[in-house]
Amino acid sequence: MIKFLDLQKINLQYQQEIEEELINVFRSGWYLLGDRVKTFENNLSNYIKSKYVIGVSNGLEALRLILKGYLELGVMEHGDEVIVPANTYIASVLSISENGLIPVFVEPDPYTFNIDISKIQEKITSKTKAIMIVHLYGQVVFSEELKSLAKKYKLKIIEDNAQAIGAEWKENKTGNLGDAAGFSFYPGKNLGALGDAGAVSTNDAELAQAIKALANYGSQKKYINKYRGVNSRLDEIQAAVLNIKLKYIDQDNQKRREVANYYLQNIKNSKIELPKIEDCLKNKEHVWHLFVIRSKYRDNLQGYLQNNNIQTLIHYPIPPHKQEAYSIYSQLQLPITETLSREVLSLPISSQITQEELTKVIIHLNQF
Ligand SMILES: *Cc1c(COP(=O)(O)O)cnc(C)c1O
Repeated sequence: MIKFLDLQKINLQYQQEIEEELINVFRSGWYLLGDRVKTFENNLSNYIKSKYVIGVSNGLEALRLILKGYLELGVMEHGDEVIVPANTYIASVLSISENGLIPVFVEPDPYTFNIDISKIQEKITSKTKAIMIVHLYGQVVFSEELKSLAKKYKLKIIEDNAQAIGAEWKENKTGNLGDAAGFSFYPGKNLGALGDAGAVSTNDAELAQAIKALANYGSQKKYINKYRGVNSRLDEIQAAVLNIKLKYIDQDNQKRREVANYYLQNIKNSKIELPKIEDCLKNKEHVWHLFVIRSKYRDNLQGYLQNNNIQTLIHYPIPPHKQEAYSIYSQLQLPITETLSREVLSLPISSQITQEELTKVIIHLNQF
């Protein structure tokens, strides 16, 4: 079986380094809010060139805390609107509704799968306070147009950077393009921990301070509570693993580009539509968290690959507005998002997939 993602193999590359650090944490007797978290926050902040990084417990919490921070600082209030791509993982939307804010969905560009920036302006109202962009599948979505739109309407730009660590737009890394960003280090992400982990980045000192407190019961000083906070901390074990793996992220992302390039060069089947990208090997705007193809015969194709021992996944089979959890939005007309959910298929991709495996995937894709 060719696995969609072989996490064991990915992590075994760093076996010795990781095992040593896990023992060090164990023996240190210090498991939360320690030096390894501080080091990771500094390392990530240096990597993306953002002033402040706060380690938190996962990617959803990172996004939720950014919005909670803005609520506490009076930048937003309950009932305000946040623009969000209709074509995203549900976590982006949950972070908004969990804070008593209203998600306003915008259709994707069908070629990049990312939010269609030209369709944002028509959704802006007097209640709009932010645009949450999602660099979906690892591809940057950003432009001068977006920046000026945000400036004109005084909107915050929040990046959901769960899928695109290491990607760049004009030599600036994702996570440092807007006002604040949320990262996920879920094990299957490009930078994956050995469990849940996440981070917030921002250049806004006030927001950073608020989030740091909010993630720790709303407390800046032990037993003094400024906010009604939550417990959403990154722990030392995960930070130790992330410090090791962060050193290799660029090299890892480059391997993903090589795999993507190989797929792009070799998949030849009129029933399959490939992602469109120029200069795949050098293009830093994509870190290929996922390699997503489209096909009108998606379900048959997935079954065919499965029968040939090739595991694929669908990101995502049901868009957020069609989920039972968001039945209040089920009447919305978002046809591009809905079409994509019926046609997309994610192929195996990682830095550890072998040439032999790739050859096999391509043979079967071309035979279908
Ligand atoms: C993974 C993911 C999240 C949530 O991250 P967790 O760490 O799993 O909570 C949010 N948004 C997107 C786009 C994601 O892919």
